[in-house]
Amino acid sequence: MTHDDNMIIRFRGVRGSLPAPAPENMRYGGNTSCVEIRYHDQLLILDAGSGIRSLGDELVRSAQENPIEATLLLSHNHWDHIQGLPFFAPAYSPANRITVFGECGRAEQLQHGLETQMAPAHFPVGLHQMRGLLPVRELSRDATKLGDLLVRTTRLNHPGGCTGFRIESAAGHIAYLPDHEPFRNNGGRIGEVEMAHRELIEFIRGVDLLILDTQYTADEYTRRVGWGHGCLPDSVDLATEAGARRLLFFHHDPSHDDRQVDEMVEVARAMTFRSPLTVDAASEHEIVSLPLANLVIGSGFSPLQEIIASVTPLAPPEKVH
Ligand SMILES: [Zn+2]
Ligand SMILES: [Zn+2]
Repeated sequence: MTHDDNMIIRFRGVRGSLPAPAPENMRYGGNTSCVEIRYHDQLLILDAGSGIRSLGDELVRSAQENPIEATLLLSHNHWDHIQGLPFFAPAYSPANRITVFGECGRAEQLQHGLETQMAPAHFPVGLHQMRGLLPVRELSRDATKLGDLLVRTTRLNHPGGCTGFRIESAAGHIAYLPDHEPFRNNGGRIGEVEMAHRELIEFIRGVDLLILDTQYTADEYTRRVGWGHGCLPDSVDLATEAGARRLLFFHHDPSHDDRQVDEMVEVARAMTFRSPLTVDAASEHEIVSLPLANLVIGSGFSPLQEIIASVTPLAPPEKVH
């Protein structure tokens, strides 16, 4: 495997709920959810929080007027996951092609959310003026092949719904669960809750990198049950049960400064010091490369070639505006 076969993950925004720029937050960063993934010549973007603005500006600068192609996966319509899109410069040029995907059955809802946030009452420019942005399409219910990547989806426990993504390549597997509260607090019946929890564990089984909503400490969570976000001990348990290799706390609370996030990581490391799981907090501008050191190829979910053979590639998207 050459360096060009690596999967590169760069965090553009790691904050939950609201951008939180402040000197005491700068090490982890103040922008809301956006993760950039590069693999071969593909660019995949997870969510369009305020972190997507700097990515767009860099793309325009480096493209030197060549067309830009990117695929954006949206987890849900909450502002912290779409508020950066109106400032994503490449989407305004008809020469570029920004393809947007959501979970099966949610394209209409996502499209409506993007249009509404750019309605005249909220923003001076309409979504229709983003001529490089294609209408939201839906991923397959099971697995969707996007170039050399395979994308799976799952439903998370979050008010209004949120999609979790699993992204697989020959370099490694990532799970991105940006907004999620443990199923046990969704008000469901015990059997259903247990089944949803088990299904989620299987969904993220063996990933190299688990990017997981860990907005609260255990103590904070006791006062925020039902708000749709996770907390430290539950995140560690989920990652451990699923056999993830590296857990990255994500969707940091806007009130948490760098010191508090550091403390959460220290607590988690004390919980896992006998375990092969490593724990960190996602940090804006951090770059992670897969495969991770010492990765045993094939130890993850199912063999990639087998999966690719079983899914139908999507037809090229048509441009409608
Ligand atoms: Zn969020
Ligand atoms: Zn949300």
